[in-house]
Amino acid sequence: MTSEQWVTIRRDLHQIPELGFQEYKTQAYLLEYIKSLPQDHITITPWETGIFVYVEGTEGHQTVAYRTDIDGLPIAEATDLPFQSTHDGRMHACGHDLHMTIALGALTDIVHHRPANNVLFLFQPAEEGPGGAEPMLASEPMQSYQPDYVFALHVDPKGPVGTVSSKPGLLFANTSELFIDFYGRGGHAAYPHETKDMMMAASAFNMQVQQVVGRMVDPLKSAVVTLGKMEAGTVQNIIPEHARVEGTIRTTDADSMTAVKQSIEQLLAGIEKRYSCQTTVDYGANYYMVNNDAEYVERFKQAIAKTNVTYQEANAAMTGEDFGYMLKELPGFMFWLGVDSEHGLHTSRLNPKEDAIEVGIEAVVAMIREG
Ligand SMILES: [Zn+2]
Ligand SMILES: [Zn+2]
Repeated sequence: MTSEQWVTIRRDLHQIPELGFQEYKTQAYLLEYIKSLPQDHITITPWETGIFVYVEGTEGHQTVAYRTDIDGLPIAEATDLPFQSTHDGRMHACGHDLHMTIALGALTDIVHHRPANNVLFLFQPAEEGPGGAEPMLASEPMQSYQPDYVFALHVDPKGPVGTVSSKPGLLFANTSELFIDFYGRGGHAAYPHETKDMMMAASAFNMQVQQVVGRMVDPLKSAVVTLGKMEAGTVQNIIPEHARVEGTIRTTDADSMTAVKQSIEQLLAGIEKRYSCQTTVDYGANYYMVNNDAEYVERFKQAIAKTNVTYQEANAAMTGEDFGYMLKELPGFMFWLGVDSEHGLHTSRLNPKEDAIEVGIEAVVAMIREG
C-alpha cells in the first residue's frame, strides 16, 4: 500500500463517524478491507460492532494484542475539509479514524510478513461512551486468545509529526462524571420558612465539595472535582424545589477516586439533614486510569530507537481513556502519536496531519516485531 491509499482509507472512515455500539458502517468497511487480505493465517471474529482479527505467528509462543478504538463523537464538524463527515452532528473529533487506519496498516504489514508471535488486533467500539473496553475484555474471543500484553496509541494534536511519546506509570487519570439532583419543596419568595430551598442546598454543596478534595485526598496525590453546570429555578420570585449540579472528578490513583466519591456521599447525607431534602447522585461514565507498565514502555523505546521515529517522554494528563480497563487486567502500555493539529481533541476543527499515519504504522509494527 502507498501512503495515498492509507489517506484514502482514513478519509473514507472520516466521512462515516458513528457513536458507540452503532458503528455498523464502520465495521462493514473494516471487514471488507480485512477480508481483502490473504486469509491463510488469520481468523476474523466480529464482536458487537467491533472485530477481533487474530494472526497466527510463525512460532506462536506469545500473543501480542494491539487495540484501536473505532467510534466518533456527537460533534458537528467545522473543518470545511473536502472529505468532511457525511453524518450530521457526528465527527471523528478524537482521531479514531487515524487509529483505525493505522491498525489496518499494521495488520497488512503483519499479514504479509508474519512475525514470530501471534498478534491479536482489537477493533474496539464505544471508547467515548458507554465504554467498549470492559465488555470486549470480558468477551469469549478475548478470553480464549489470552494475550500476553496489550498496547494502543492515541493521536496527540500537540506532538509534531514523526514523534511518539509515552511514560512508565500513570499516563491518563481516573475520571468520573458527576450528576447530583436535589429535591425539596418550592414556594413563594416571601415565605421561605414554608419551603425547602434547593438553591440553598445546591449552593452549600458547591461551596463545601472543594474541601472534600482538600481534606480527603493524600496531598502527594492529585485529585480535582470541577462543577461545570448548575441549574435551579424558573423565575425570580419562586423558591425552587429542584436543583441540579453537573461536574467531573479526576484523580491520579484509584483509591483517591473511591475516597472522593465516599466523601461526596457523606457530604450529601449532611446536606439532606441540614436542608430537609433528598438527593440522588449519578457518576455517569467512568474511566479507569491508564497505568503503563515500565517494562513494556522500555521495550517500546528500544523498538522505536531502531526506526525513523523519535521517542519523547510524555507527561501524565488528567484526561480519561477506557483503554485503562484493559491495562487493569493485562500488562502493557499506551503511547501518544504526534499529529500536529492546531485544534485539539474533541473540537469541531481537529485536523490531524495525515503524514502521521505512516509514522503510526511504523511504530506499531516495530513494537509487534521487536517488543
Ligand atoms: Zn476522545
Ligand atoms: Zn480518543
